[in-house]
Amino acid sequence: MGRLSWIAIFISTFFFMELAAYLLHKYVMHGFLWSLHQDHHVQNKNRKWQKNDFFAFVFAIPSFCFILIDSLLGAPALGSIGFGIMAYGGAYFLVHEVIIHRRIVLFSRLKHWYLVALNTAHKVHHANHGKENTHSLGMLVVPWKYFRDSRIKNNKK
Ligand SMILES: [Zn+2]
Ligand SMILES: [Zn+2]
Repeated sequence: MGRLSWIAIFISTFFFMELAAYLLHKYVMHGFLWSLHQDHHVQNKNRKWQKNDFFAFVFAIPSFCFILIDSLLGAPALGSIGFGIMAYGGAYFLVHEVIIHRRIVLFSRLKHWYLVALNTAHKVHHANHGKENTHSLGMLVVPWKYFRDSRIKNNKK
């Protein structure tokens, strides 16, 4: 397998995972596994972990298995999918837990228009504590108006 195909699969997987995460959020987290996602919307500030953190395994398990199979049996296409999922999981963690919710404080305030848009969109998702909440379910791709508003504010500065 050529290096370019490997990278193409890796990048496609990364973007596919945004769609997968969107669908997971819409149909599973705000669907039949709402019981696990609920404590992310109605948070208990005294608790470090949320039941919602369980969903990290949805990224980690397939990623781990694909990379393991690749390293044992030599299946580079599977390996690149595994690393693509891992990269998306890392980006999701960084954006959602660190940058937006600040569960670990690594950075000072957000300034970049892209991150400001993601933050605003996700905070609007959180403004509704209920199961029937279909607003801004994506993480790295959010409704266009948030990007537009954030760009406008950014240009005024
Ligand atoms: Zn939600
Ligand atoms: Zn959140």
